[in-house]
Amino acid sequence: ELVLEAKDLVLEYDMRGTKFRAVQGVSFDVAKGEVLGIVGESGSGKSTVAKAVIGLLPVAEGTLSVQGHNLPKLSPREARKVRKSIGVIFQDPAASLNPRFPIGECITEPMVVHKEGTKASRIQRAMELLDAVKLPRSVVNRYPHELSGGQRQRVCIARALTMNPELLIADEPTSALDVSVQAVVLEMLQDLQRDFNFACLFVSHDLAVVDMLADYVVVMQSGRAVEQGKVKTVLHAP
Ligand code: ADP
Ligand code: ADP
Repeated sequence: ELVLEAKDLVLEYDMRGTKFRAVQGVSFDVAKGEVLGIVGESGSGKSTVAKAVIGLLPVAEGTLSVQGHNLPKLSPREARKVRKSIGVIFQDPAASLNPRFPIGECITEPMVVHKEGTKASRIQRAMELLDAVKLPRSVVNRYPHELSGGQRQRVCIARALTMNPELLIADEPTSALDVSVQAVVLEMLQDLQRDFNFACLFVSHDLAVVDMLADYVVVMQSGRAVEQGKVKTVLHAP
């Protein structure tokens, strides 16, 4: 059961009329419960792939399918449904939480976006998710700036899980955190992935992190996949 599939994917940025090809023909797939790591140096095209999966960048050529639905071919209604099945975590938790909303509302923002649940059921859901990311329920009425960076990233993880996603996109989720909390957040992501068994696309410039979390890896360089396969084979070749 493939959750995510890219075939000969080409992605471009339009720069005042001229096209810049940031991803030049990349193919990969991610089955249910699998973690695919995308590694490569800054500027190699990793985030561009993630942006296309979450619908922030159109597909220029090739196919990009989420649960069998090819993104470029979807109606707006189908696209909304697909987006609902994708949870997203970005690099900087300070930038991605609205400072004016208490933590409970930050976590359940996707329910509001997708018009799901009552106020009471959203608070209930926020409590469950705070438990899942091991934050005390008392932070529900606190504001993002009152939490540490690591705590804020756990709030972002909780928010990404609100809709029970089939696919989690994590783009450098620990790069903006203090080294001391990186491992805690990574282990938490690993545990949650195993418990809930969602597919995951994990973007990182850090080989050690991908080695720890991913089953499969795509190594990118200048918009191309220069190596890919099982982590064991690609990262531990003799
Ligand atoms: P990272 O490597 O951590 O993804 P970048 O410095 O490449 O960060 O990009 C930071 C922001 O600037 C991103 O939102 C990216 O989309 C945008 N960006 C990067 N390169 C360009 C560019 N050549 N032209 C316009 N925007 C860019
Ligand atoms: P990575 O995530 O591997 O650091 P990106 O996917 O952010 O790389 O960027 C890939 C290439 O696309 C880089 O050359 C970058 O400068 C360029 N790029 C990224 N975002 C934009 C943008 N918004 N507009 C134009 N070029 C961009």
